[in-house]
Amino acid sequence: MIGDGMGLTQITAGMYMNGNRLNLEEFTHVGLQKPHSARELITDSAAAATAIASGRKTYNGAISVDEKGEPVTTIMELAKAAGMRTGLVVTSTITHATPAGFYAHQPDRNMEEAIAIDLVAAGVDFFVGGGKKYFDGRTDGRNLIDELWKKGYFVSDFSQSKFEEVKIDPSRKFAFFSAAEKPSKAAGGRDYLPRAAGAAVETLATGAAHGFFLMVEGSQIDWGGHDNDSDYIVSEMIDFDKAIGAVLDFAKKDGQTLVIVTADHETGGYAINPGSTWDTIRAGFTTKEHTASLVPVFAWGPGAKLFAGMYENTAIFGKISRALNLGKMQSGVSK
Ligand code: MG
Ligand code: ZN
Repeated sequence: MIGDGMGLTQITAGMYMNGNRLNLEEFTHVGLQKPHSARELITDSAAAATAIASGRKTYNGAISVDEKGEPVTTIMELAKAAGMRTGLVVTSTITHATPAGFYAHQPDRNMEEAIAIDLVAAGVDFFVGGGKKYFDGRTDGRNLIDELWKKGYFVSDFSQSKFEEVKIDPSRKFAFFSAAEKPSKAAGGRDYLPRAAGAAVETLATGAAHGFFLMVEGSQIDWGGHDNDSDYIVSEMIDFDKAIGAVLDFAKKDGQTLVIVTADHETGGYAINPGSTWDTIRAGFTTKEHTASLVPVFAWGPGAKLFAGMYENTAIFGKISRALNLGKMQSGVSK
């Protein structure tokens, strides 16, 4: 689970504005990771997603390709090859940099139409996010929604029903588009992330002989940081924490699921300044961009102890591979 732009202050603000309580407090092991990209001290979400998903540092903007532009294998691809079911639930477009890093290989994060083609080819079992226009409003005239149906998916979207009204058949691949472009804010009534995260774990676990790999993103914590809007950060943080709670509820019941929560980087140089109270954050920001701060990693479940300590973001790939016993399928990359 990735909180985009979720540094320690974002977590702290969400916690105090939620009555001094977050589901994140349930986690048993905590670590810190170094988010820098291959050459830049300050990463973007694409390079960070590539690092976490594939174990390779690359240039800012790269979607799971290395510095030479060659594709690098992702943890989601390894999980699928090992027979695991796969899923993605996000509050950005489903083709945005963070989710794309797990299934696509493109030289530039802005190539969302090409990334959509990669998603159709990837065969992800369950996905929920915005960006429908990259599937049915394309410059090449292809209708990828039709292609998803032809590949056996059940597809629905925001114009037909709310996410919770859709009947999910766990024996079938599932896609739900939450918006034509980017989904709205949690403060604007968007409430599908916790529900969809809970539905994803339940659906993917059903009939999964070899388990599942799911990536859930609280995508808009970052957008609150870019806007230097503390209220936006807090509402997105609390919404993401509800999704964490839904996944933890499943993991506690299941007993065999490792849950990892981290960020790709911090955004805004966000601080909680004097004048803040238990009801109000008096926020400071140093920038409208990302910052270079270490970001936390929380782990719960079998293999959680692998995530204690301080390490590069690329190490997360090797740690997940080890926890899932996927390491032997990979040579030279895991660390
Ligand atoms: Mg993101
Ligand atoms: Zn950002």
